[in-house]
Amino acid sequence: MKYCDKCHVDVQTNQKYCPLCHQVLQGDNDETWIELYPKFIPLRREVLPLTKKIILFITIVAIAVLLAINLTAWEGKLWSLIPIGSILYVFMIVRYGVLSRQNIAFKLALLTTALILILNMIDQQFTEPEARGWAINYVTPLALLSCNVAISAIIWIRRINFRDYIFYLLTIMVFSLVPIILCLFNIVTVVWPSLAAFGLAIFILLIIVFFFPKSIKDEIKKRFHF
Ligand SMILES: [Zn+2]
Repeated sequence: MKYCDKCHVDVQTNQKYCPLCHQVLQGDNDETWIELYPKFIPLRREVLPLTKKIILFITIVAIAVLLAINLTAWEGKLWSLIPIGSILYVFMIVRYGVLSRQNIAFKLALLTTALILILNMIDQQFTEPEARGWAINYVTPLALLSCNVAISAIIWIRRINFRDYIFYLLTIMVFSLVPIILCLFNIVTVVWPSLAAFGLAIFILLIIVFFFPKSIKDEIKKRFHF
């Protein structure tokens, strides 16, 4: 046992200095005393805040330059939407896919939504009227279907955080309803991709309801505060 003259406390340690005031401690080392430290858990470093800012800056500058060139040399077409869409999508992959600590289902859902929106915009702007609709007919339902398969595969392989993912599956199911509804209004003219996406969403949900009914109940309680 050592003693600090300044703090007037006994200190159970073999350290040379007082842990409170950093004065030299009085007394001899106790050879039988084993120093006990709490396990050191380093704080996870915030993911490169400067890198995030630089990426955002480059993205904004690139989009502004493209728009400026397009508008000053106007030839009747907003052609810059295509490179801008690509840049935005790469930006989202890097910023929210790579440099983010969100769970992977969130990342997949976000990137799928971005892809769907960007490609539908490009479809509306650039496709000849008679060929228009590929984005809503094929890309939208098949992207939803792929996202659903990917998230379900992750749930199955990892078997962890099961409850966190159900929310995303339910969200995809609701989204998959949209192309089906658009079929009724003749906006979606090719039905099978939309049916496949919605069918798979229902199928996966039924599997969960059948095999893991409690997880669905818990999730609904959690989300809606019942
Ligand atoms: Zn002291």
